[in-house]
Amino acid sequence: MAKAKVLVLGGGVGGTFVANKLAKHTDIIEVTVVDATGVHHYQPGLLYVPFGWEQPERLRHDERKLLHPAVQLVSAPVRMIDVERRQLFLLNDGTLPYDYLIIATGSCPVPEEVEGLAEGGHHFYTEPAALKLKEALNNFQGGRIVVGIGGFPYKCPPAPIEFTLLLDDWLRQRGLRSKTEITFVTPLPQVFTIPTVVPMIEELFARKGIRVETFFNTEFVDFQKQRVVSLEGTELDYELLVLIPPHRGAPVIDASGIGDKGGWIPTDKFTLQVKGHERLFAIGDATDLPVSKSGAAAHFEAPIVVKNLINLVNGKEPDAKYNGDVMCFVETGEGKATVLRFNYERPPQPPKPSAWYHWLKAIMNRLYPVALPRNIAPDVFIAMLQGKFSKVSPFCGSELMEKLKQDVMKTR
Ligand SMILES: Cc1cc2nc3c(=O)[nH]c(=O)nc-3n(C[C@H](O)[C@H](O)[C@H](O)COP(=O)(O)OP(=O)(O)OC[C@H]3O[C@@H](n4cnc5c(N)ncnc54)[C@H](O)[C@@H]3O)c2cc1C
Repeated sequence: MAKAKVLVLGGGVGGTFVANKLAKHTDIIEVTVVDATGVHHYQPGLLYVPFGWEQPERLRHDERKLLHPAVQLVSAPVRMIDVERRQLFLLNDGTLPYDYLIIATGSCPVPEEVEGLAEGGHHFYTEPAALKLKEALNNFQGGRIVVGIGGFPYKCPPAPIEFTLLLDDWLRQRGLRSKTEITFVTPLPQVFTIPTVVPMIEELFARKGIRVETFFNTEFVDFQKQRVVSLEGTELDYELLVLIPPHRGAPVIDASGIGDKGGWIPTDKFTLQVKGHERLFAIGDATDLPVSKSGAAAHFEAPIVVKNLINLVNGKEPDAKYNGDVMCFVETGEGKATVLRFNYERPPQPPKPSAWYHWLKAIMNRLYPVALPRNIAPDVFIAMLQGKFSKVSPFCGSELMEKLKQDVMKTR
């Protein structure tokens, strides 16, 4: 019997992870990742780039090296998905047919959606933007910094909070904190989307003297006057503006007519099939799922997609269900972090910030290119670090962990 052709569109976190998991089934399927560039960007590391604590070149990886050898790679941008004829149209020319398609095209920040933001504001969600912000910070001599959320949705909801707390550290290290006023703005009625996490952030912000402006829906940025104005009528003057732009799905989703008005793919929240298309799955940021757009969500979704797709190939029901699992470490400044673990039913209860979680996050960032080709999901990874598996010697306190710590410290 001919093997089923499975295409994975997008070689980011979700696409790479799901393809490597599918590689175990190459007795019945052929797996090909189609990625626009063949260069994999590890986006969580961008958080540190503006402070000079991470180098962009360390965040770029050759996608081929992250993929299991049994997975093929096509490096070419896709112009359109033809769901009726089950094929992808490549931008330059040619088509790729499939029996099953997994869409993992991610999300894009779109500063142009807010008037004046592209001209007057900074962010750190792409490599060029993070480098531009680094330059602006290096030229900053004190004054008013307005930082926060320029619109919804955006990926990695805690990242603007983490940035603000690290900014406070960075300014203190440079002796600029007493000359700087930091105001965090958000369209929400509270400082963070998830109520159980709000008290912790409020306490941290209050202790560090960070002002919070809630109900701030950015209407426009007057970049000549260096002023940001909200729909609610609040006006804030700034010397430096760092606003995370609202995001959209990848342009190919709009071009293929399979997205909603934000370019997000309507996805079954349990089976992860694209609604109305049995042989199409979506994973990661590209979906319209009610979970944080995060690499962690994509990791937890991957095994569900694999199980359901293989069931379909074998003529069975796609009965595996994603429960909304997400887990992410959140930097809280002063060398500490906490962790948010939650799902559709259970909200996160963040533990007290500690150096332990900060180091876990730092080490996970460093080990990512090693963990990805080996199919190591975040929770398994943490358990390994804690030495919870009898076959794995405790990693804590080991020589390797010490080496990694020193490696991270070199950039601080
Ligand atoms: C500053 C920052 C900090 C973050 N911190 C964390 C964190 O601590 N924890 C966490 O879990 N998440 C974090 N995230 C979010 C995380 O990086 C994303 O949610 C994750 O990368 C989503 O994975 P994905 O596979 O859906 O999309 P991506 O990883 O963005 O990959 C999408 C891929 O699709 C490809 N593609 C798109 N369109 C086409 C096309 N037309 N043709 C071919 N290929 C195409 C792109 O080239 C890309 O390779 C952070 C993000 C940022 C920016």
